[in-house]
Amino acid sequence: MSSPNNAWVTLATNDSYSLGALVLAHSLKTVGTVHKLAILITPGVTAPMKQQIEAVFDEVKVVDVLDSKDQTHLALMCRPELGVTFTKLHCWTFTNYDKCVFLDADTLVLQNCDELFEREELSAAPDPGWPDCFNSGVFVYKPSQDTFGQLLEFARTRGSFDGGDQGLLNMFFKEWSNTDISKHLSFTYNVVWSSTYSYLPALKQFGQNMKIVHFISSSKPWLQSFNTETRLVTSKHGGSGLQELLQLWWDLFCRHVHPRLSTEMIESRLS
Ligand code: UDP
Ligand code: MN
Repeated sequence: MSSPNNAWVTLATNDSYSLGALVLAHSLKTVGTVHKLAILITPGVTAPMKQQIEAVFDEVKVVDVLDSKDQTHLALMCRPELGVTFTKLHCWTFTNYDKCVFLDADTLVLQNCDELFEREELSAAPDPGWPDCFNSGVFVYKPSQDTFGQLLEFARTRGSFDGGDQGLLNMFFKEWSNTDISKHLSFTYNVVWSSTYSYLPALKQFGQNMKIVHFISSSKPWLQSFNTETRLVTSKHGGSGLQELLQLWWDLFCRHVHPRLSTEMIESRLS
């Protein structure tokens, strides 16, 4: 049997989300994934940052949703508010892979979860804000040009009830909520961390099972204060457990990303 050709896929439209994507990639390597790493970027990512990304990811696809004179561009003209969403939809165009798992750039993988590739499209974990919806920061899907076209058409004609990809994908894959429980991933695959995490006894009981943490909204790791002398991060929002996870992100950043960044920057200044 030939080994499956699978990939983790993420997205970055600028340099700060690129830092998230780089740390995410190193977290995947640290847990020893056997699958490839792929990323969608846009021209908003600077050339030195693109070089960093190319050194870590197996495949880098540049998508320019505004300039492409194709169906994406036409769809976007009708729905200018869905800019980043349209970019995310391009993950379906990685048809050189059999199956993919999309991960937001603000996620961090804590334990190996290669078993996710055994799931079918569209598998995702519930969103704690409205658990009949899935959170679109982590999902298993099957790349397909056909599905991509359908998603674009859906976006153009129907839009998104929350103005982003989560509303759109939940409408498109609306059977997720009530059809097949095997497509419901455990919350441990997408622990959505808001600054007001509210179920602390569950965190105490199940916290060690956490596989992927997702730093939504204002808890983005790269927006917290980091002390370069003590190498400790201080969360601006607090919240039990968050501090340790943010520290993990920063440890990976300091070990794998920052040293390379500074060398590159120095070199580019000298040349
Ligand atoms: N994203 C991006 N640039 C942006 C906003 C979002 O590249 O300006 C990508 C990135 O991969 C990010 C994902 O889109 O993780 C979803 O956005 P975000 O994580 O900020 O939303 P949240 O999870 O907080 O709802
Ligand atoms: Mn996110």
